[in-house]
Amino acid sequence: MGLWFTEKQTDHFGITVKVKETLHSEQTNFQKLEVVKTEEFGNMLLLDGLVMTTERDEFTYHEMITHPALFTHPNPRHVLVVGGGDGGTVREVLKHPLVEKVTQVEIDQKVIEYSKKFLPSISIGYEDPLVDVIVGDGFLHIHENKAKYDVILVDSTEPIGPSAKLFELGFFQGIYESLKEDGIFVAQSDNPWFKPDLIKTVFQDVFEIFPITRLYTANIPTYPSGLWSFTLGSKEYDPLQVEVEIPQDMELFYYTANIHYAAFQLPRFMQELIKIRTLKRV
Ligand code: SAM
Repeated sequence: MGLWFTEKQTDHFGITVKVKETLHSEQTNFQKLEVVKTEEFGNMLLLDGLVMTTERDEFTYHEMITHPALFTHPNPRHVLVVGGGDGGTVREVLKHPLVEKVTQVEIDQKVIEYSKKFLPSISIGYEDPLVDVIVGDGFLHIHENKAKYDVILVDSTEPIGPSAKLFELGFFQGIYESLKEDGIFVAQSDNPWFKPDLIKTVFQDVFEIFPITRLYTANIPTYPSGLWSFTLGSKEYDPLQVEVEIPQDMELFYYTANIHYAAFQLPRFMQELIKIRTLKRV
């Protein structure tokens, strides 16, 4: 029968995977960190019992948290990644030829360490000299660094523990100030089936601060409900108004120019989540 792991996504619903073996398990200073080898999705990183990433489907999340913003900004030279200790977002940012520096602020050194050990295809970007890793709190970092970044990508865990403050209005205000005058940011904003209120709140908070606010989605099978959302705030450039041209030699598996625009087309029940504010603005 073998060993099965279930992430309880709600009190009454979960996702179950067959586990071949546990590669690592420890309580870090911040969270319970586990890496397991699964039959279906390769190695899987878990924090506090929640799936963070898997070798098989990580590309959908990492490409979609990165490329819509990076292809919207015409000159993304300095990019900040908050969280994202597995390294996948950093790897995607490095695919952009104009990027000169990637700063990553990850609170838990152990996530980086064990991603390097057990998720080498995801953490590969850490070897690049353009990457500067700071082990620290992303919330403090953005408040201490003003008008510095072209793009900020918030690759956080769910809003529990150290990442709870990464979903607050004060954090989005700090991001606005940490961006240059034409900066863009994206935050993962969970799923519309089990966390509709979170999407609503994040969108409304970002809408209060940024002149352009957009919500978009991607399909990520090992995340709750499989339908994931991202919230984008931009000071100047609208992702729906730009012409996306992807270099032919850029290795991508999910993101295409058509996906760029299509991802912003929301099912009606998601449109409802952000409707009040959108209407008020018009
Ligand atoms: N893609 C994942 C998801 O949506 O579930 C997120 C993965 S990534 C591993 C999230 C990272 O954010 C974790 O490594 C965690 O340690 C980090 N993190 C949480 N709170 C943070 C904070 N305040 N500052 C910096 N990093 C933080």
